[in-house]
Order: sequence, then C-alpha cells, then structure tokens
Amino acid sequence: GLGPLATPRAQDVEAKWRGTSTSGGTTKNYVEGRFVDSATKAWVDVHDPATQTVLTRVPETTPAEFDEAVASAARAFPGWRETSLLGRQAVMLKLQALLRDHMDDIANSITLEQGKTFADAKGDVLRGLQVVETACGITSTLLEERLEVAKDMDSYVRKEPLGVTAAICPFNFPAMIPLWSIPMATVTGNTLVLKPSERDPGASMIIAELCERAGMPKGVVNVVNGTVDIVNSICDDARIRAISFVGSDRAGAHIFHRGTANGKRVQANLGAKNHAVLMPDANKEHALNAIAGAAFGAAGQRCMALSVVVAVGEAREWIAELVARAKQLRVTSGFDPEADLGPLISPAARERVIALTGSVEAEGGRILLDGRHFQSDEYPAGNFVGPSIVEARPGMQAYDQEIFGPTLVVVNADSLEEATEIINSNKYGNGSAIFTRSGATARKFEKDVNVGQIGVNVPVPVPLPMFAWSGNKGSVLGDHGFYGKHALNFYTHNKTVTSLWRSADATSSRASVNMPTMS
Ligand code: NAD
Repeated sequence: GLGPLATPRAQDVEAKWRGTSTSGGTTKNYVEGRFVDSATKAWVDVHDPATQTVLTRVPETTPAEFDEAVASAARAFPGWRETSLLGRQAVMLKLQALLRDHMDDIANSITLEQGKTFADAKGDVLRGLQVVETACGITSTLLEERLEVAKDMDSYVRKEPLGVTAAICPFNFPAMIPLWSIPMATVTGNTLVLKPSERDPGASMIIAELCERAGMPKGVVNVVNGTVDIVNSICDDARIRAISFVGSDRAGAHIFHRGTANGKRVQANLGAKNHAVLMPDANKEHALNAIAGAAFGAAGQRCMALSVVVAVGEAREWIAELVARAKQLRVTSGFDPEADLGPLISPAARERVIALTGSVEAEGGRILLDGRHFQSDEYPAGNFVGPSIVEARPGMQAYDQEIFGPTLVVVNADSLEEATEIINSNKYGNGSAIFTRSGATARKFEKDVNVGQIGVNVPVPVPLPMFAWSGNKGSVLGDHGFYGKHALNFYTHNKTVTSLWRSADATSSRASVNMPTMS
C-alpha cells in the first residue's frame, strides 16, 4: 500500500483505482459493474481540508443515470437472491481479505479527502472490515427456528431479502458507514444503490472496486454520487424497498418521512451530544486520558465523540488536568505521523465550531481552553481549530447544539442522579460513558440513562458487529439498528410458514368453518 511516510500527500491513488481522482479529475459512478463518467453539467468540488486543493469533482448524477443504477440493481436481484448462502459467504470472505490488503489505500483516500489522521483513518476502515468479517458468519446467524407444532404440522420462518435497497452516507466515516450496509444488505441477498457523502466519495469507490474483485456480480452494488436530488430520487423510487441513512438531523428527518411515506423501510441515525460522567471515585488518569481522546479524536467529528463531560462533585477539580492534556495534542495534517487532530471537513464547519465555542462568553459560560485562534504554519489554508474546553449549561447554544468539532463542554453536577437527569433531558441519545470504580454506580447508570451505546470506563463504546448499533431519542428514527441481528431483520422480511403433510388421506367430506386453533 501507499504508506503515509513513503508518500506523505499520496497523489497517485488514482493510478490504481478506477473510480477515484486525487488530482482535480472526476469521481465516477459505479453502475452495472462499470465505472462510468457522468454526463451531468453540475459538479461538486472536493477539497483537501488541509490545503484547499481541489482533489476531485463529484457529479450530480442525472435522473437517467440514477434510473439506470436502480434498474441494474433490480436486474441483479433475482440472480443474486438465488445465489446460495455459501456462495454469498464466499464473496464476503474474499471481500474481507481484499479490504485488509488495501486498507492503506482506503485510509489514504480518507485522510486526503476527509482530513482525519492516517492512524484514525485505518480505524475507520477496520471498524467497517469487522462488519464484513461478521457477515461471513451468515450461515450461522441466519439460521431460524423450526418446530413441529401439531401432528404432521410444522412452522418455520423464511427470512427473505427485500430487493433493491439504498444507503445514504455521511462524511465523517467514509469507509465504516458504507461498510455497515454493503455487507449486511448483500449477504442477505439484497442488491444496493449506495450514495457516498459528496465530500469524500473516494473510499466508497475503492470499496466498490473491491466488491467487484471479490466476485459480486454486476448490479449487486452500485454507487451513485450526488446530493439532494439523488437523495430525493432514492426516497421516491418505487423499486427501492429500504433506505439506510446516517447523517444530520435535518437530512435524516426529511429522508425518514419522505421514504416511509412512500412505503419504504427507513433506518436513520442522526446527530449526537454524548456525555461522559466523571465520578469522583474514577481511576483519574484513565478517565482523563479516555475523555480527552474521545473529545478531540477525529477533531470531534465522530458521532460517538464525547462532547460533554459532566463532572460530579469533587471530580470538577480535575478539569484543569483535562485542559493540560488537551494542550499537548498536536493539530496538523492527518498525514503527519505526529498528528492528533487533523482539519475539519470544511471552512463552514470551522466557522461554526468557532462561533459555537465563542457563544458561551455572551451566554454566561467560560472558555477554559481556547482553540479558536489556532494557526497552522505548515498548512495555513487548512480548516484547523485547536481543542477547546468551555464551561456551559443546558440552555446555552454550545451545550444544546451538536458542535461536531474539538470543543468539549464541561457541565457540573452534584450527584449521579443529577448527571443522569441532565443526560436524559438532552434531546439526543446516541451514546454515553461513565467513569467510576463502583460497579453499583455503573449498574444504576446503565439502567437509568436513555441512550443507545453505554461505556463503563470505555470512552467510545461503538458496539462490535456481533451486537447492533442503536440509538435513543433524537439520535435515531426508525426501529431497526445497524449491523448485527438488527440489520438481519432490517434487510429481510419474515414469512412464517405453517405446513401440513398428513401421513394419511382425509376421510370426512364435511368442511369446518371455525377459526383453526391448531390445539
Ligand atoms: P449530512 O446530513 O449533511 O449528510 C449526510 C448525507 O445526506 C449525505 O450523503 C448528503 O448528501 C445528504 N444530505 C445532506 N443534506 C441533505 C438534504 N437537505 N436533503 C437530502 N439529503 C441531504 O451529514 P454529514 O454532515 O455528512 O454527517 C455528520 C452528521 O452525521 C452529524 O450530525 C453526526 O452526528 C451524524 N452521524 C451520526 C451517526 C450515528 O450513528 N448516529 C454516525 C455518523 C454520523
């Protein structure tokens, strides 16, 4: 692969991958097993967030091109669903090996387009790869129960694929989130039309090529690029049966309502404001390291970032040490091996983080560490901000809004109960973590807190793929989680068969009209 040290600003990815560009060319679509140029006249520039160099241009795919992608997925469906389960498993086994072999190239594309550090970008790929690895176990996980319910009578469930499905992805995990849907949708026998984020499509294009090399027949996975128009077409197209969405509240609510109004299954993961509860009995060094890592890692652009710390009782005295840790973090290009934080995705994201961080001053809060004025000498045009730590309260903008940047909000509480109440009153319910040495405290917190993912002394408790990703309150719309058993349910519908194979022919000629009770 292209090591970050060997080629610090790797520009030669495009020589190897058919769908991507890194030198101002164009990103292609992947339809019917071909990487095709769009005929559109509308393009979106993708900038290197550390330098503003235009890396590629993303097409606003035309309605005719979109139609062809869905038609391709619809044509591929009957053959793919008839492919044996072992055949689909074999494709997953090859895909996981290919992803592992080409992890560095995918990570390079992510660091280039998205900005996160190369080490973090590899984690992005790895968390997606783990979903593929778990999908390889489909021959066991899709096993259903069967029962003889009466004499000569059996009941069993057939879990059948839905048909054409779609995925609409956010910018912040360019590999992991496409890999929540690609393996789970296809291993269950569905076909897929995937729309990457228009800000960083490169990882999806490389993954599409790897799907092809893994032996996925043409049309099983299609990638179409674009923005709002393509999303609306996905919501409206009658051939698409289900939509997986991950992204912001506004887009997610729109897609959920428009998609479900058209009779589709829609799962939508939305925004977050994840609180860390810092108890005074915590292992202090572990807790502070973990909170700093989860608040500032990926420059705060993770949906599971810990963006609020609720300091309980005497733990508030440790905040000065948190500030000291945050000051040590190095902000620079994600290709720099010393980088802790890369740039934010766009100049607008940077402006927003700066404004929300500063808003505490006018609203009665305090800035304890001010990263707003950070300037990179090496990358003066980059979308960088330094880590900030601010004191705020519910009702202030910096607390109420998802900042999605390296600004940690500190809230004080007197007790575990008060901390839990703060979290449960927040509009979001994605994840939360508690740091304590008490099992009883942790257990009470687990039970009382209304979020999807809970960490006990674990800062970023993203469930491994044998479990499912879930959410609570404003962080989710729809009722099936991503990956794990939830995804098997999302991507299949159940037929429950009750069959009677009498061992002897009937002798009576009188029909019964009563409701059969089978008892
Ligand atoms: P975004 O909503 O701007 O974009 C997501 C997708 O929706 C993109 O493909 C985009 O093209 C499309 N889109 C954007 N605006 C649209 C509109 N008005 N109409 C139709 N489609 C639209 O989100 P983002 O900025 O790429 O991602 C960051 C957000 O995603 C954050 O809020 C973060 O918390 C959230 N997120 C949540 C999870 C989770 O699991 N809960 C995971 C990752 C990211």
